[in-house]
Amino acid sequence: MSAVWAVPLVTMAVTQVTVLATSIYLHRALAHRSIHLRPLADITFRVVLWLTTGLCRRQWVAVHRKHHTFTDREGDPHSPQLLGFWRVQLFNVVHYMRAARDPKTLETFAPDIGPDRLDRVLFSRGVLGLGVGLSLLCAILGLWAGLLVGLLHAVLYVFVLLPLINALGHWHGSKNFDNTASNWRLVAWITGGEGLHNNHHAHPRAAKFSVRRSEFDPSWPIIRLLAAARLLVITGPPVTWTGDAARRSTPSY
Ligand SMILES: [Zn+2]
Ligand SMILES: [Zn+2]
Repeated sequence: MSAVWAVPLVTMAVTQVTVLATSIYLHRALAHRSIHLRPLADITFRVVLWLTTGLCRRQWVAVHRKHHTFTDREGDPHSPQLLGFWRVQLFNVVHYMRAARDPKTLETFAPDIGPDRLDRVLFSRGVLGLGVGLSLLCAILGLWAGLLVGLLHAVLYVFVLLPLINALGHWHGSKNFDNTASNWRLVAWITGGEGLHNNHHAHPRAAKFSVRRSEFDPSWPIIRLLAAARLLVITGPPVTWTGDAARRSTPSY
């Protein structure tokens, strides 16, 4: 008998693990070099992302760095200021793929990222990763429950949570710093801290996205834990909140 009752819980768990891996590995470790991962942690994050997203790390990093370079102006791959909120929220994946498939984007913005041997042998085969991940879900939960978790996870990750950061995070919301991005504290709870987007654009190299006591960055305790276990080193600078709401943002990555 398939474990249909477990579908909501497992979906939430799989999606949250994916979102945290995206934020910690692709975003903070690779795109901004704010943390340095030891080999065991590096491989683990890559396996998790291979099974749950099938993403190419070089493409993700290149598109994201391009976003930081051209934030909300001509050249930004997914700006709601240029494209409108719903075109980013609903079609974020299309805008992402368009930028990710441009070889010039990869050469310009991610010359330092692979592909290494593991990419060539395994991780570049994103569809295989998703197939293995889905097969594992079906083996554990039963065929229909496994397929349902896979489908719900894909919808949540691709069409809800990732676009929410790009659309809502550059549309309206509260600001601590003077840049075009916004903070959404509740969104931060379900996006591995990415909802604190105004803080991140002000201090892209900071490993911790929260700056005020009222803000919570769920990735940060995990980063601290992994640092304590010597699985990573925090290399980005700490940010101290001074209460000055008009601080200039840093327009680089
Ligand atoms: Zn942004
Ligand atoms: Zn960033």
